[in-house]
Amino acid sequence: MNQYDVIVIGAGLGGLSCAARLSALGYRTAVFESHTLAGGFATEFTRKGYTFDVSLHGVGGLEEGSFGRMLKDCHVDQQIVPLRKKHPYSIRWEGQTIDIPSDVREYTQLLKGMFPAETAAIDKLFAGIRRFEAGFSAFSSRTSWRKMAGLLKAGTFFRWTQMTTWEAVSQFGLSDRFTEFFTALWAYYGLPPKRLAALYFFIPWMGYHLEGTYYIQGGAQALSNALVEAIQSAGGEVHLRSQVSEIILERGKAAGVRLNKGDVYKANWVVSGISPHHTYGRLLENHHAARRELEAVTKMETGTSLTQLYLGLSCEPRELGITEEDLILCNEPDSETDYEVMMSGQYTKGNWMFTNYNAMDPTLNEAGKGVITVTFLDRLENWPSARPEYKAKKEAVKQQILERLEQLYPGFSSKVVVAELGTPRTMQRYTANPGGAVYGFAQTVRQSGIHRLKHKSAVNRLSLVGAWTQPGGGFQGAMNSGIMEADRIAAKLR
Ligand SMILES: Cc1cc2nc3c(=O)[nH]c(=O)nc-3n(C[C@H](O)[C@H](O)[C@H](O)COP(=O)(O)OP(=O)(O)OC[C@H]3O[C@@H](n4cnc5c(N)ncnc54)[C@H](O)[C@@H]3O)c2cc1C
Repeated sequence: MNQYDVIVIGAGLGGLSCAARLSALGYRTAVFESHTLAGGFATEFTRKGYTFDVSLHGVGGLEEGSFGRMLKDCHVDQQIVPLRKKHPYSIRWEGQTIDIPSDVREYTQLLKGMFPAETAAIDKLFAGIRRFEAGFSAFSSRTSWRKMAGLLKAGTFFRWTQMTTWEAVSQFGLSDRFTEFFTALWAYYGLPPKRLAALYFFIPWMGYHLEGTYYIQGGAQALSNALVEAIQSAGGEVHLRSQVSEIILERGKAAGVRLNKGDVYKANWVVSGISPHHTYGRLLENHHAARRELEAVTKMETGTSLTQLYLGLSCEPRELGITEEDLILCNEPDSETDYEVMMSGQYTKGNWMFTNYNAMDPTLNEAGKGVITVTFLDRLENWPSARPEYKAKKEAVKQQILERLEQLYPGFSSKVVVAELGTPRTMQRYTANPGGAVYGFAQTVRQSGIHRLKHKSAVNRLSLVGAWTQPGGGFQGAMNSGIMEADRIAAKLR
């Protein structure tokens, strides 16, 4: 029978976690996904016998930390094998390769050694981060008395929610050079530190440095598959190749979905794990409140996309001298300039992230098959929509990247077996996210925390989850959104 407690549109991490959590709480759920694989960005693909993780580079706190708790909430903690990374990341900075320590004491020592004139300010920064962390744990506590007691001391946390990353670091009198070095991971969150909300820099920072940085054995697809199995083993369903074309309303409430093939499925609640633009635009075309919401979300700032070159090598990366797990190739130390050159498509002038999958998970590919990726920020407008021009540009950018890699690692080009470029157009094609955005709305102060899109929608019994909604993008943000909303829906349906 096509009747469920909850229907979820889109099998991205937000949608899957919402369905898995509801299944764990005893609700019958069905997920409908356009693509042939579940996971959204959290998927994999194969070329010439090489397996490529589409997106995962690292997450914090996969064991006892905040991510580990989410896995338990979804009943998938026993299925996930966490692989602890040696370092949150490494960086090539002013001609040197520096491994960033996970341990806070070691990290402080490294920073003091590099910036000896700023030791007192560095101590103040780390004391500030400790206060921020205490406030954040109280704020996110599920125990109400702990939350109340902690909130009284959460002044730093609340102040930082109103700051950019740059403001939060430089308030301690630290130099611009220090701030650029300390915030070098900003590109993973889509905006330079002068625009990125401090929340989106420091929450993952705490995960990496206080709870450890991890990769998942088997990659992002292992996580998505575990969520699918959790849904199915609780009696739920995940329908692939099933694009939703309409949200069905009955007496003003969401009551089901229609697929583009015409089939109708009914439920007591509908959750949309796709962009709010498509939810309010295409799926609720003639609804007056949806039209108003569509206008509002269209005015908001969409986040950046990424370009990623997936490379399969005929040797292990270490044979070419590539030993780091995640390396930021810092070519342009000024983050604003870096952002501007990337947004204008001058890719060789900016910074790249270089990820060595063999070092993170030797089981993802057979021994002797190297897999690395090169990633940088990008925007859809840099890529022509006409097919011949698009293909020609892809080829040219691929060659530019390979030339730079050949300079850095002589002999690199002769080892390349697969070179597949994923552009913002690829990201858009596979997820239908406007602009190929990978973190939903831009993670600015005005679009963060309580200002970010809420899960409760303009339509009764319709919820929104995923990177576009609270708390934000990334694996942890998207999963958190799904779990938080599942708990609210369960309380309503009870
Ligand atoms: C190259 C890359 C690297 C990244 N690295 C990291 C990282 O290291 N760490 C990290 O935390 N994050 C990383 N991210 C970001 C992270 O992957 C995303 O923020 C997160 O996975 C988004 O999840 P989501 O729930 O919003 O859904 P999405 O992944 O956007 O998925 C939405 C799903 O909905 C489906 N859909 C759309 N329309 C319909 C419809 N009408 N009917 C049915 N289905 C539909 C789509 O097919 C898709 O499967 C990376 C992203 C990319 C692209």
